[in-house]
Amino acid sequence: MNDVKDRATALAGERAQTMASNIRKVGVVGAGQMGSGIAHVCALAGLNVAINDLSGDRIKAGIATINGNMARQVSRKRITEDERQAALKRIAAAESFDALGDCDLVIEAATEKEDVKRGIFTNLCPSLKPDAIVASNTSSISITRLASSTDRPERFIGIHFMNPVPLMELVEVIRGIATDDRTFETTKQFISKLGKTIAVAEDFPAFIVNRVLMPMINEAIYTLYEGVGNVEAIDTAMRLGAHHPMGPLELADFIGLDTCLSVMQVLHDGLADSKYRPCPLLVKYVEAGWLGRKTQRGFYDYRGEKPVPTR
Ligand code: NAD
Repeated sequence: MNDVKDRATALAGERAQTMASNIRKVGVVGAGQMGSGIAHVCALAGLNVAINDLSGDRIKAGIATINGNMARQVSRKRITEDERQAALKRIAAAESFDALGDCDLVIEAATEKEDVKRGIFTNLCPSLKPDAIVASNTSSISITRLASSTDRPERFIGIHFMNPVPLMELVEVIRGIATDDRTFETTKQFISKLGKTIAVAEDFPAFIVNRVLMPMINEAIYTLYEGVGNVEAIDTAMRLGAHHPMGPLELADFIGLDTCLSVMQVLHDGLADSKYRPCPLLVKYVEAGWLGRKTQRGFYDYRGEKPVPTR
């Protein structure tokens, strides 16, 4: 009996191995900080990449970011100049979803808004090969719900990279209710090929990392809102007092305050517990368009030589 089971497991593993080696071309939708990071690591791992965004200019900006980040890796001797050149050649701009038609895997890394993501999947799927896997890099939204806006819930999965993608070792993998074993196994093989470590999370709001991290960041913003400390005191306290590499407000700016707010809203709506209530000060910053580093202003102002706290 055990022999039969072992053989079945081995066969499933072999099948997934073949499938993973069939992932030769990856599509990335969204060329912001995460999409460009995902394209970066895929291209360095030898995969062809097509990257899409709302406009040609945004795609160009994403590719320029990748170029700059790879140049930094060359100067730090993490990769060679030849590897950089070869990887850049593997990245193409995809101005329409039709240009993703020959991808084996498409990873959506657009703005953290459910209606935006659902709209992308509805328009994207008709352009794809029937057996292509579709994934979302969402930080918090239900994979099962997103899967329902595709024509292939069994080949839909959550692949949650961490920021900055080239540096962070972890990728969370989240199966939706319909995700089949082959998709799960192929995804795990693909992530291993990128040299990352996998943590499997169940499909509950914000999964593991953000379920723990975001309430901490939100609490730090409450601490600021209630005047317990100013920006500098809160970040210094957590850097030196808890040995965090970045203070929580600095980290929130790095992640993007719009993303932080969306994750807290998903936690609050999905778990219906007032402990996840987004801090009104976070809402105010987002309403002001002060989204952190990406807009040059958040809990710090980044427009000068060095970051200056805004409170
Ligand atoms: P970002 O704001 O840097 O980039 C989002 C990009 O999506 C923008 O370039 C935007 O133009 C594009 N976009 C919006 N609508 C689109 C559409 N319809 N079609 C194509 N492109 C579209 O955001 P980000 O930080 O890169 O986050 C992207 C995703 O990754 C979100 O789901 C976020 O939750 C997730 N994520 C973010 C982090 C982080 O630390 N920032 C970490 C892990 C996961």
